[in-house]
Amino acid sequence: MIHGKQLDFIQKKLNPTQQNYSTYDRELLGIYLSIKYFKHLLEGRKFTVYTDHKLLIYAFLQKPDKASPRQLRQLQYISEFTTNIKYIKGEDNIVADAFSRIETITAIDYDAIADKQTQDVELQQLMRSDSSLKFKSCTLPSGKTLWCDSSTPIIRPYIPEQFRQQIFQQIHGFSHPGIRSTIKLMTKKFMWPNMKKKVREWARTCIPCQKCKVYRHTKSKVGEYEVPDARFNVIHIDLIGPLPQSQGMTYCFTCIDRFSCWMEAIPLPDITAEMHSLSNTVSPCTL
Ligand SMILES: [Zn+2]
Repeated sequence: MIHGKQLDFIQKKLNPTQQNYSTYDRELLGIYLSIKYFKHLLEGRKFTVYTDHKLLIYAFLQKPDKASPRQLRQLQYISEFTTNIKYIKGEDNIVADAFSRIETITAIDYDAIADKQTQDVELQQLMRSDSSLKFKSCTLPSGKTLWCDSSTPIIRPYIPEQFRQQIFQQIHGFSHPGIRSTIKLMTKKFMWPNMKKKVREWARTCIPCQKCKVYRHTKSKVGEYEVPDARFNVIHIDLIGPLPQSQGMTYCFTCIDRFSCWMEAIPLPDITAEMHSLSNTVSPCTL
């Protein structure tokens, strides 16, 4: 649940014009700004927005021509995350001054992450070293402190080792994007040292991804060779098949002398056979 303190800042952000909006517009703006601010926590999750402004629960049911372009724009943005807006009575809304409450059904347990962060040696080292990271403490609804890196436009919580693979599974397991996209999604929202390397490794070894992988062959152009000036200096060999079976043979081992174009084709029962045993069992036929 996101409420209280976290939403105060949004209210403070309203400019004088926005402060003169109607209650409906102010509430809608509040939801829009809250979702925008917390989108890294909300993306891909099922959540409910609670509002004490009853009219807002019909926002998605109204005819588009009834809404102003600004309302439409904000509603469209909100609908990319949720259309689940519920009414909560003013007196039940324990958060004074907050516009709305956003409840998330989230599988990422930020409280547990915050607990682990307190004993995380790696985090303490990172905070001491003057790296390019800017650590900032965020207070969770439970009152616990979650340390996040604020050096990027989106604040990214530091993830202790125990939770890294689990979070990867959630982000990657949703639609199994490619390695590069997974890295992008992960580094945008979370932080730990050498994250790209680990994420690449996990994405590369993901079993469902491997099962559905489309292999692309490298097409190299035909090589150019100088014509040799003597017989048997250059011999091309190849395996061809599988061909229709003939006397138990389905493959051909071919040799061509580049100078004289002399060809030999040796029938093979399969291409895993060891070559030394062939000379005893199969006699080459000259083409
Ligand atoms: Zn995958």
